[in-house]
Amino acid sequence: MPLVSDMYGSMVFNEHTMQERLPSATYKSLLKTMKEGKPLDQEVANVVAHAMKEWAIEKGATHYTHWFQPLSGITSEKHDSFLEPLGDGRAIMSFSGKELIQGEPDASSFPSGGLRATFEARGYTAWDPTSYAFIKDEVLCIPTAFCSYTGEALDKKTPLLRSMDAIDTQARRVLALFGEKPQRVVTTLGAEQEYFLISEKEYSQRQDLVMCGRTLFGHAPLKGQELEEHYFGAIRPTVNEFMKELDDELWKLGVPAKTKHNEVAPAQHELAPIFANSNRAIDENLLTMEKMRLLASHYGLVNLQHEKPFAGINGSGKHNNWSISAGKTNLLDPGDSPMDNLRFLVFLTGVIQAVDDYQELLRMSIASAGNDHRLGADEAPPAIVSMFLGDELGEVVDALIDEHEYRSADRVAVDLGVDALPNFLKDNTDRNRTSPFAFTGNKFEFRMPGSSVNLSDCNTILNTAMAKSLCDFADAMEGKQGEEFEAAAIDYIRDTLRAHRRIIFNGDGYATEWQEEAARRGLANHKNTAEALPCFVDPKSIELLERFGVLSETEIRSRYEVKLEKYSKLLNIECRTMKRMVRRQFLPAINGYAAEIARNVADIRAVAPDAKLEQQTVLLQKLLDGVAQIDEQLRLLIDEQLAANAIQDLQERAYAYAERVIPVMDALRAAVDEMEIIVDRAHWPVPTYNAMLFYV
Ligand code: ADP
Ligand code: MG
Repeated sequence: MPLVSDMYGSMVFNEHTMQERLPSATYKSLLKTMKEGKPLDQEVANVVAHAMKEWAIEKGATHYTHWFQPLSGITSEKHDSFLEPLGDGRAIMSFSGKELIQGEPDASSFPSGGLRATFEARGYTAWDPTSYAFIKDEVLCIPTAFCSYTGEALDKKTPLLRSMDAIDTQARRVLALFGEKPQRVVTTLGAEQEYFLISEKEYSQRQDLVMCGRTLFGHAPLKGQELEEHYFGAIRPTVNEFMKELDDELWKLGVPAKTKHNEVAPAQHELAPIFANSNRAIDENLLTMEKMRLLASHYGLVNLQHEKPFAGINGSGKHNNWSISAGKTNLLDPGDSPMDNLRFLVFLTGVIQAVDDYQELLRMSIASAGNDHRLGADEAPPAIVSMFLGDELGEVVDALIDEHEYRSADRVAVDLGVDALPNFLKDNTDRNRTSPFAFTGNKFEFRMPGSSVNLSDCNTILNTAMAKSLCDFADAMEGKQGEEFEAAAIDYIRDTLRAHRRIIFNGDGYATEWQEEAARRGLANHKNTAEALPCFVDPKSIELLERFGVLSETEIRSRYEVKLEKYSKLLNIECRTMKRMVRRQFLPAINGYAAEIARNVADIRAVAPDAKLEQQTVLLQKLLDGVAQIDEQLRLLIDEQLAANAIQDLQERAYAYAERVIPVMDALRAAVDEMEIIVDRAHWPVPTYNAMLFYV
């Protein structure tokens, strides 16, 4: 058994390996690129490419790939071998700086929202030296950005990197006011990944799971999660074996998988890594998701990453733990001295302003057909964005806003003058799990993202909105120093907190009263994806994203189109799958069972004309009524689906799916599920929730 410490990162071309294998001048200039965002020159790239190739070949790699994240959200790769024929029948293994820096995957079939048609058919990939290259299945994977020939982003990574640049620039302006000059400010991210594991055998018998990743039918199991016996429960052996192999594989790839446990719903689990720079953390999360899917098959299991594979029990999210750091300083850490606290309050206020001003963009950034089943479903945050600060910090904010005295936890009165800013304790105990955006001691936890999502989208928005808050502050403080700066900063914080107080909510986010209260406060409540997406193309959003160089209007419009299309396409596939299952599986099963009962009734009557057959005839009638009900909903579904697909305007089509098709899908499902519990189990054509959720 290799030691974990030996194995960790063994497949990653990380800083340690770079230092070992690169001439020191090359290493230094590569570090500058990685840490400070300095451009990289071709010479350096050639040397790095050579070292990377030698290293990869020693580790058994034969191919390399530019690993990228097209707008479909998942990662893509096309493998090229290092092979270069010499012309005399022999070959060498070669890899140039040019091949490292740029690739042309000719990936013209990825969604681009019309961008590629307008510009140039080919997209190209460009090396992202700020995330490590790694070896996966004998392939050297080079993290890359994916752009059109004219430089439009065609992927999820490019805008994220641009947003990190924006926050770096603005945060350094703010820190300069405090006399701090860090080399680079980055955002950090810890992504908690939830997922389900079920047996491959049952999975393969359900077309809905195979095609859509979620069950479109299925009556609630006899017990759900009400006994709370699964959460943090002992992990069963097969699952444990899976988790162990997953950890090993992730550790080799330098992914710092840290905690694993059973989640609330039966068959649900979670993996949380140690946080990293957001860019790297997202690459790691995507690798984690891929490894989970692939390794599950070693144990006869299937890994479900859909936000809501099963109705009636919890769905899966991906909590986005987010902070900003300058070197070793976490800028969302309250700190120990009054000045640390002032800096903290500036950043905290910036987050509050950003989340309030761009609440709709944040909601948009995590909207998807799958996530619509979670948000507002009493198990996940509501679709309304609000912030939870915790008692202690909440009191500090109240005191600042109302200009009253703040009493710290030990009940010592603290004057809010600059010299004696409250040296508050870190309130690490976040007792509110219903909040979409909660302060958890030294970071914020954004709980709305769904389990299947690429976190780049929401972090891009979060970072850019935060960059704007910091920019506003720096602009307002321009030229101020010393006590004048401190006094002006406090005033600025107070005014900004007053203006954005409405976004802070410490109560129960699941309560219906909150919906009313939020409406009174003027907070947005976009219940589904169709409603959430249009704000992406609002002038206010375009203004923000263009101003900080994150996305151009053309890029925004293309992304909006891709999201709209994906939504309707997914629902269209779900409808098709429903129709197929109803016609070829459920109706034949129910009819078959009804016919069997009818035959039984006739048989019994033949020998016992006076027999009491009430139970049988009532059941028969229920089955026939059920069939009629299913048939009616099926016809309705066909009509609504056809009508939706006939709509040319993508936004209108999305609305039609959300408002007209989904209710019929729900009704059809309900009609089938009602039959599931009265049809003989030998006739039921698919595995039930009882069978899927309690055996793994
Ligand atoms: P909780 O139990 O409240 O969810 P944890 O300490 O377990 O909090 O952290 C949850 C996730 O947050 C982990 O992935 C962790 O690495 C991450 N995290 C911790 N500190 C930070 C930070 N400064 N920036 C981003 N993520 C962080
Ligand atoms: Mg958490």
